[in-house]
Amino acid sequence: MTDLSQPGSQSGAQLQSSTAAAVPPPLWLLAELTYRCPLHCAFCYNPLDYTDHNRELTTGQWLDVLREARALGAVQLGFSGGEPLVRDDVEVLVEEAHRLGFYTNLITSGVGLTDQRLGDLKAAGLDHIQLSFQDSTQQLNDFLSSTRTFELKQRVAAALKRHGFPMVMNCVLHRYNLPHVDKIIEMALALGAEYLELANTQYYGWARENQAQLMPTREQLEEAEAVVARYRQTHGERCKIFFVVPDYFERRPKRCMNGWGAVFLGVAPDGAALPCHAARGLPGLTLPNVKDMPLREIWYESDAFNRFRGLQWMKEPCRSCDEKEHDLGGCRCQAFLLTGDAANADPVCDKSPFHENVVKIVRQAASQTEATVAAREQPILFRNDANSRKLAAAAREPGAAGDNRASPGGQS
Ligand code: SF4
Ligand code: SF4
Repeated sequence: MTDLSQPGSQSGAQLQSSTAAAVPPPLWLLAELTYRCPLHCAFCYNPLDYTDHNRELTTGQWLDVLREARALGAVQLGFSGGEPLVRDDVEVLVEEAHRLGFYTNLITSGVGLTDQRLGDLKAAGLDHIQLSFQDSTQQLNDFLSSTRTFELKQRVAAALKRHGFPMVMNCVLHRYNLPHVDKIIEMALALGAEYLELANTQYYGWARENQAQLMPTREQLEEAEAVVARYRQTHGERCKIFFVVPDYFERRPKRCMNGWGAVFLGVAPDGAALPCHAARGLPGLTLPNVKDMPLREIWYESDAFNRFRGLQWMKEPCRSCDEKEHDLGGCRCQAFLLTGDAANADPVCDKSPFHENVVKIVRQAASQTEATVAAREQPILFRNDANSRKLAAAAREPGAAGDNRASPGGQS
């Protein structure tokens, strides 16, 4: 296994300075304003130990991040979390981002999005709002988020339209709601969404803990894809529908984040700079912090952002593969989670010696024909502070975590 705590040949100062000139600036800044969230989604991508990283940047520090990122060249800005609206300075940040020339997007569960705040955000220059739903049914929406928020989200969707925002509706898909894809699309159409993002679950963070529960069958995915194709034909003009098949079901990985340190720059609530959403889960990778280092230095010179940039870091089979410029070896976090080494080929690739690990997971999902059967065997673990503290303690001291799982059918 590659030791990520030791800078490798790719990250030496000499190589960094020789490659810096060739590194393009970031295009997309994701400002994860907070890990606080009133929802408790079973598929949340926030780190399991988020309670260990909850000292949030101040408004002034976030304003500096925005200015530095814009000066670097970033043009798209997402405000996310957690739930960004638990902070009362989102309007201030949006106003400055707008003044700087960013295209801004608020990624929200809808909780806290009152008429007053919608008006203020509009006045501050917010361009776009992405509203998440968990399902088209109240029962599943509320179960998967472990909150009663379905009706609130419907009201927020209507308010978004009243205030003249374009709406992206987002719904994370998995084995529970894939059979409802037609109803989810109908709901998006009825609420007037211009875009619908049907995002198949990525198995990091809390979703990884609940993988046995959430992983769909190939048949479910194929049926959902066919439904999406039908709606695209009949309603494609009204609502653009995005649907990406999860890569566990493919034989080649996706080009993750369009390349490590290529276009994406995330900043976590505590100021840690992230080359990808899930980078905090890679052990030994020291994440630079915006409180200690200018963003320019982080982007061009930090070990974390150079570690998997380009192609030099690759091991076999990627190193000599003629497809490496196409997929860049896939996802580093997936490689770590499924092979134990972030520098391995993404095991979704059937050239990887670890591909069987992925095949096994898909096979297991196929054998669980009844979601409820799986649920009884291993109930869902919800994302909440108590579970996070236990998991963080368990990571520090194996054996400290208790079992806090719940079965579908009863809201916790
Ligand atoms: S996925 Fe759910 S719990 Fe996680 S940040 Fe989003 S709304 Fe909150
Ligand atoms: S071996 Fe590596 S570079 Fe080649 S297709 Fe597989 S993941 Fe991509």
